[in-house]
Amino acid sequence: MTVRKMRAVAAGEVPVDGGTAVQERADRPVFRGNGEHDYVCVSCGSLLAAGMDPQYMTRRVRVRCARCRTVNISAELPVQAARRPRRGA
Ligand SMILES: [Zn+2]
Repeated sequence: MTVRKMRAVAAGEVPVDGGTAVQERADRPVFRGNGEHDYVCVSCGSLLAAGMDPQYMTRRVRVRCARCRTVNISAELPVQAARRPRRGA
């Protein structure tokens, strides 16, 4: 098992309608799978997602840490601004 630190979601990165999984208890990861990596909060090191495969840790997987409220995303994903609604025709 490898521990991977996540990163904080950058300002403006999360779409308005984007969902974020909220961790309810600091001692219970939001996701638990059968993969090889544990993903921990960038700020406090809390375990947010246990046993995950990297291919599951997409942009859709964002977790708000129960302990420090940081919204985390996989550190392997580059910072990317959320798409803005197209204006005009
Ligand atoms: Zn945290």
